[in-house]
Amino acid sequence: MAYSDADANSLIIVGAGGCGMMAALVAAAKGVSVLLLEKTDKPGGSTAFSSRGIRASGSRFQGALGIDDSPEQYARDIFGRNSNESDVPLTKRLTEVSGAVADFLADVACIDFSVGEFVFGHSARRAHSWKEDKTITDFMYEAVEREPNIQVRFSTSVLGFQQADDGTVTGVVTDSGVIPAAKVILASGGFGASQELLSQYIPEVAGVHFPGHHGSTGDGIRMGLSAGAALENMASFQPYPAHIGPGMRSVSPEVIMAGGIMVDPRGNRFVDETRYPGGLSNGILQLPDQQAYEILDQRLYELLQHYLEEFLTEGLLHQAPTPGELAGKLGVDARGLEETVEEYNGSVGAGPDRFGRIPPEPFKAPYYGIRVKAALYHTQGGLKVNTDGQVLRADGSIIPNLYAGGGVATGVSGAGMEGYLPGNGQLASLGLGMLAAEHAVASLLA
Ligand SMILES: Cc1cc2nc3c(=O)[nH]c(=O)nc-3n(C[C@H](O)[C@H](O)[C@H](O)COP(=O)(O)OP(=O)(O)OC[C@H]3O[C@@H](n4cnc5c(N)ncnc54)[C@H](O)[C@@H]3O)c2cc1C
Repeated sequence: MAYSDADANSLIIVGAGGCGMMAALVAAAKGVSVLLLEKTDKPGGSTAFSSRGIRASGSRFQGALGIDDSPEQYARDIFGRNSNESDVPLTKRLTEVSGAVADFLADVACIDFSVGEFVFGHSARRAHSWKEDKTITDFMYEAVEREPNIQVRFSTSVLGFQQADDGTVTGVVTDSGVIPAAKVILASGGFGASQELLSQYIPEVAGVHFPGHHGSTGDGIRMGLSAGAALENMASFQPYPAHIGPGMRSVSPEVIMAGGIMVDPRGNRFVDETRYPGGLSNGILQLPDQQAYEILDQRLYELLQHYLEEFLTEGLLHQAPTPGELAGKLGVDARGLEETVEEYNGSVGAGPDRFGRIPPEPFKAPYYGIRVKAALYHTQGGLKVNTDGQVLRADGSIIPNLYAGGGVATGVSGAGMEGYLPGNGQLASLGLGMLAAEHAVASLLA
């Protein structure tokens, strides 16, 4: 059914990233007509830049492998990482729905998930990925195009809401006029591309390299505030410690998790590198130019050669027979790096080192190193929402007919940069997209 402005069951979704397309697909599958408005000329948003996998607990893919996991265990992992700083009911609800998100995407967006071995800070195998060279939003947009209940309008910016005197949202104001709606889901992403909002809420990353989507200008945060919404955890963000800026390239976390180390310009380690990404990024953000040097050895190179080889070929990854010679190539203090490698090797088998890390194996020649920078990947705070994605005012009351999810809403990464558990971004984006759409549809069809 094509969207009609006069349709009493109409749902408008703002933003065609992961959250917006998830919400659109869920609502459309239940027979509701959806108008999806996207200010740029393409779908995807920052979700298209995410790693090619989502975390889920309780999916049929985990079940088929007999993986021992539960939403409660997933929630404990999130709380463990964010020091219990995220909203408890919201965090639990998102982990409960995560399996259904994966199953729904498999059915509707035809994603053939496999569950990987790399747990990366999680206590169970939850990384659901796919083989095709496609982003998750490629799959989702193909599903959107197949769905007759969804109409998409690109190059359409939503500027605000039409509201009744009691605050009830009755439509959206766009750059081409007002469009009435029975329900509105705000899925307009975070504010990593807005220096103004970064300076206001997360000044330590204003000016830090942001390789995310240019549409992440915080429009929805501003619109939500004008509509009377409360904000939560605005200083929360997802950092990345091993970006090869400029552009979109990065060194995989597997290098660090398998034994790689990070040093400063003096050749010294400065943190337990496995506190990834938050603790390590925090350390790098204190360094001059937010720049550090990732060091590995032949064992790690061979383990991840399929992925590191191109960096070596391009001259980004340097190789040398000794730490001192490697330091010369990287522009790092030679004596410092020699001592660091010696100390690291000496601490293998001796329990936690002075940073609290348990080094897995001693480094063996030849040595490799690459210059990396800390980057801001995504903001994780935003409009306060309940477990159905309904937007809340400071007094806890609901702004009728208004929902939010993903980067524009509060996430599950706590208050700062160290609370981000890998996968939290997409969990909040896809999970709240599903929850908001289900609630909006249920109340439309009631
Ligand atoms: C490089 C990178 C790597 C990442 N890796 C991971 C990862 O591995 N795992 C993970 O969980 N998360 C990751 N993230 C974070 C994750 O991508 C985000 O948390 C999540 O995708 C946000 O989804 P969203 O739908 O809210 O926003 P987006 O996907 O950004 O979509 C928002 C859309 O809204 C549009 N929009 C904005 N304003 C308006 C307006 N006024 N009117 C109409 N449309 C508007 C935007 O143009 C955009 O298309 C990564 C982010 C980046 C940048």
